[in-house]
Amino acid sequence: MKTIFQAVKEAVPLPEAARCCGLEANPGGMTRCPFHEDHTPSLRLYPDHYYCFGCHAHGDVIDLYARLGRLRPIEAARVLAKLFHVEDPAVHLSAPKQYLEKNKSKEECQ
Ligand SMILES: [Zn+2]
Repeated sequence: MKTIFQAVKEAVPLPEAARCCGLEANPGGMTRCPFHEDHTPSLRLYPDHYYCFGCHAHGDVIDLYARLGRLRPIEAARVLAKLFHVEDPAVHLSAPKQYLEKNKSKEECQ
């Protein structure tokens, strides 16, 4: 079963998410690292992960957003899902069940 983490990682390009946090990569895909005192761009933004050549910080898009926004990973995943219109697989799976239960109780009332 797909999780919101997988859905976000597949759908959200890391450089786009970084831009939302004010990290704009230069044409070489480099930007100044927010995780250490960086005077020249040392942080490389790849489509699916980041890596800092200065302090060796690395991770995926959710990890980056969580660290920049001081969020828990699940919170970062939810914010990114909302920003980039990614469907939360958990919500999608639980919806029909709720719908059925709602209809069931309606029948019981009648
Ligand atoms: Zn760094």
